[in-house]
Amino acid sequence: MIIVVCIKQVPEIADVKIDPNTKPLIREGVPTILNPFDEFAIEEALRIKEKQGGEIIVVSMGPSQAKQAILKCLAMGADRAIHLTDSLFAGADTLATASTLSKTIRKFVPKFDIILCGKQAIDGDTGQVPLEISELLGIPRISGITKLEIEDRKVVAHREIDEGYEVLESKLPVLLTALKGLNEPRLPNIRGILSAKKKEIKIVTASDLDSNTNQFGLTGSPTQVVKIHTPEPRAGGIIIHEDDPKIAVNKLVQFLKKERIL
Ligand SMILES: Cc1cc2nc3c(=O)[nH]c(=O)nc-3n(C[C@H](O)[C@H](O)[C@H](O)COP(=O)(O)OP(=O)(O)OC[C@H]3O[C@@H](n4cnc5c(N)ncnc54)[C@H](O)[C@@H]3O)c2cc1C
Repeated sequence: MIIVVCIKQVPEIADVKIDPNTKPLIREGVPTILNPFDEFAIEEALRIKEKQGGEIIVVSMGPSQAKQAILKCLAMGADRAIHLTDSLFAGADTLATASTLSKTIRKFVPKFDIILCGKQAIDGDTGQVPLEISELLGIPRISGITKLEIEDRKVVAHREIDEGYEVLESKLPVLLTALKGLNEPRLPNIRGILSAKKKEIKIVTASDLDSNTNQFGLTGSPTQVVKIHTPEPRAGGIIIHEDDPKIAVNKLVQFLKKERIL
């Protein structure tokens, strides 16, 4: 079973700020972590490999710091990684991201069986990238899975929906996105951490994928951020303190009339 796991390094969300001029998130100098949903994806890949054998290839597009997240996946047990890193990839919207990841998979892991992703990244939060990858590669997808069984080159997945869950079946190859509850991600142990440093991390740049580099990053992105703002803090409410409820109700009615609510 050849399993590709797409992972993203994300800022610790509490520390994120927005650049008021160029709009995207300010990522420089902010502590980063492996996107939590991607931990469920990598753990599931490890469990599949433990049962069925095979290889796990981690793919990530991001700046040089993304290596930390890649190393964590290798320490957990993934076999090797592909790190897409090039200033030409900067400013990519979800379509340019998905297109770059699909080209990479097609070129470097053409015979995959399963692609596992997180359901969403906790910074961008669109949940679009995996679905776009499946479209671009022309394979079926099941998003938001909380349980997975694989038998006879067929997956059966529980997918969370508003009313509960639905059970979907797909043949391979398939793309799956992982939700909390799918599993309990393991912590890398010391042996894993040490062996991660010896595993292959292939660096891929834009020109390794295509000679027309205009299709990557900002120039290859049809989306433009038009406006972005943080919500105004809410003004405090008015509290009517009266021991006598009749007086309190009277005051409330007067207030509502004054505000033309009554
Ligand atoms: C105009 C514009 C400019 C932008 N500029 C930048 C920029 O300079 N730098 C930047 O980091 N972001 C930038 N972004 C945001 C960037 O488009 C998104 O972060 C990215 O496309 C992923 O979308 P998302 O975070 O919503 O991921 P989601 O779709 O929510 O992610 C779901 C899953 O897809 C996979 N995935 C997502 N992104 C990656 C990745 N990079 N590598 C591997 N797997 C992945 C992971 O499995 C993840 O759990 C920009 C966006 C716009 C619109």
